[in-house]
Amino acid sequence: MLSKIIAQSSIDHFVKWFQRADSIVIVSHVSPDGDAIGSSLGLAHFLESQDKNVTVIMPNAFPDFLRWMPGSKDILLYDKYTEYAEELIANADVICCLDFNALKRLDNMASAVEKSKARKIMIDHHLYPEDFCKITISHPEISSTSELVFRLICRMGYFSDISYEGAQCIYTGMMTDTGGFTYNSNNREIYFIIGELLSIGIDKDDIYRRVFNTYSEWRLRLMGHVLTTMHIYNDYHAALISLTNDEQEQFNYTKGDSEGFVNIPLSIKEVCFSCFLREDVEKQMIKVSLRSVGTFPCNQLAADFFGGGGHLNASGGEFYGTMEEAVKVFEQAIEKYKPLLDKNGK
Ligand code: 5GP
Ligand code: MN
Repeated sequence: MLSKIIAQSSIDHFVKWFQRADSIVIVSHVSPDGDAIGSSLGLAHFLESQDKNVTVIMPNAFPDFLRWMPGSKDILLYDKYTEYAEELIANADVICCLDFNALKRLDNMASAVEKSKARKIMIDHHLYPEDFCKITISHPEISSTSELVFRLICRMGYFSDISYEGAQCIYTGMMTDTGGFTYNSNNREIYFIIGELLSIGIDKDDIYRRVFNTYSEWRLRLMGHVLTTMHIYNDYHAALISLTNDEQEQFNYTKGDSEGFVNIPLSIKEVCFSCFLREDVEKQMIKVSLRSVGTFPCNQLAADFFGGGGHLNASGGEFYGTMEEAVKVFEQAIEKYKPLLDKNGK
């Protein structure tokens, strides 16, 4: 049995909404990851089983390793089909906001969602949810939004309507947001849910292979490169990896090729904090990804130095300037946070 973590009032409220709705739009954050896509498609498969007209709209493209997911071909990309997406968003009865806590995470799509008269529900697990939805189901203690979608469907009494396709999507989100159940994954109820998804027929080993073992040759060569140029700050228990645009071109970089790189330095015994800086020419900024182990608050550091935020152990931000300047800011940051880094250094 699962603990009843979602408030009954939110569940009753959403049941009324979706039963009355004709057209439902599901949106998630810019640069969607496995949980953004998994939770959105998981909920979409369920709502379609209830004969609802559902469209999943993402601000921009998602990585290739998620393209096998059932329903992913029908995802509408806002940056490519802006007008059509805006029409659907404006005319929706209900908009489900999944796996993000602030409108700005929708990037250019934010104002269309904000303006829409649709009823809005947030289902998310990031800290500090903004107040832009009538129903807010926000549970930072839960490791993925996909898990929340599973819990919501069950609590509404529709477990038996979760299809094989929907179960695959939910599992994928749960798996990717926990690094294949290697972090944020000590809640035993996760394994109860996996048992239920297996009973629906998913092949978890096959999903793991499809997501984690279908990379290109170039990704591995790029990984070799960043590990060679990685800088370890021994006195700070910190590591820095970076990719300039020139380096990305040299390794035929395509979106998603550096997914997960930021976690690798944490496998070094003494390192408790890892930073990955990647130049994004299109957006004219340097994307900052941060990871930590233990109690080191990389979300606090992200907010403090990179105008970002996120979770205690996984956060990010943006830097406007050159790579050299970004590295300097990183070095100032670890200087300021040295006492906390020392405390967490293994
Ligand atoms: P990633 O490193 O995978 O891009 O992001 C990890 C987590 O950091 C995300 O789930 C999100 O919570 C947070 N995050 C990433 N980038 C940003 C950002 O620019 N602003 C904020 N507020 N949070 C971010
Ligand atoms: Mn998530």
